[in-house]
Amino acid sequence: MSVILSGKEVAEALKESLIKEVSELKGKGYTPCLKIVIVGDRPDSVAYIKGALKRCSEIGIEASVLELPGDISEQEFIKKIHELNNDESVNGMLIMRPLPSQISEDRVKYEISPEKDLDCFSPINVAKVMAGEKEGFPPCTPQAVIEILDHFKIDPAGKKVAVVGRSMVVGRPLAMMLLQRNATVTICHSKTKDLAEETKRAEILIAAVGKAKMVKKDMVGEGAVVIDVGINVDENGKLCGDVDFDDVKDKVAMITPVPGGVGSVTTTVLAKHVIKALKQQKSL
Ligand code: NDP
Repeated sequence: MSVILSGKEVAEALKESLIKEVSELKGKGYTPCLKIVIVGDRPDSVAYIKGALKRCSEIGIEASVLELPGDISEQEFIKKIHELNNDESVNGMLIMRPLPSQISEDRVKYEISPEKDLDCFSPINVAKVMAGEKEGFPPCTPQAVIEILDHFKIDPAGKKVAVVGRSMVVGRPLAMMLLQRNATVTICHSKTKDLAEETKRAEILIAAVGKAKMVKKDMVGEGAVVIDVGINVDENGKLCGDVDFDDVKDKVAMITPVPGGVGSVTTTVLAKHVIKALKQQKSL
């Protein structure tokens, strides 16, 4: 049986260190402040927001939601983003995506101030992740993967890492972040030929595909570390990852569960980013 890499454990440890940081900041007269922007009703976003607000409140961060109507025009939406950019009381923003179709993400991503963009929406932050610049904001999910590796002292330097998935929110930035940490990274996707050959070679395998239980025993190397980013629903309506946990668990050395893995860490990373934004804005 492999070691289970508990995301909850990582989130709790990170939370404790953030509580201390916020208390120090409050001692200096600063309270970090987050604004979550949601356009229209999105049930999956509502659950995430509830979790994020609870996390921030536990840590001592002020967090609130700006709810915008589902039919808001692109121009009005941009106006709201500019207002938040200029609002000195707000340190960071999370814009829930996807945005409705009348708003072009490719256009509005240029409007959010990179200093307040906590989830790597702005192309400036994307460039910073590419360049490995520390003051940028990588997306929360890839950063959650890094927090898990760090917490369990799994150093990717020099290791063969395969990232399956190349989206802008998970696979692609995560591959760059692992490269920055000196891993030898292979990025796999739906057009990869002989995927199992690539994934079997990996000492660290990261699945960010969105296909329930796709990664089976014959796709993982003996003794590999497996990080499962996927959040899917299986044939019985239960949450599951991209990795078939029961199938691979006795072959690999370490594995994150779903639920209770990467997804448990993301809201705490969001809180970490709010604090980082405040510190950078105030040169603390
Ligand atoms: P996307 O659908 O945007 O990207 C999926 C990626 O997987 C694409 O690059 C696609 O390749 C690749 N892919 C699809 N099918 C295959 C296949 N058969 N073989 C190899 N590669 C394949 O998903 P996201 O990146 O947004 O999310 C990935 C997963 O992570 C989802 O399950 C999502 O729910 C979960 N997630 C979890 C979060 C968390 O907090 N834990 C947060 C965000 C996402 P191609 O580019 O060629 O199409």
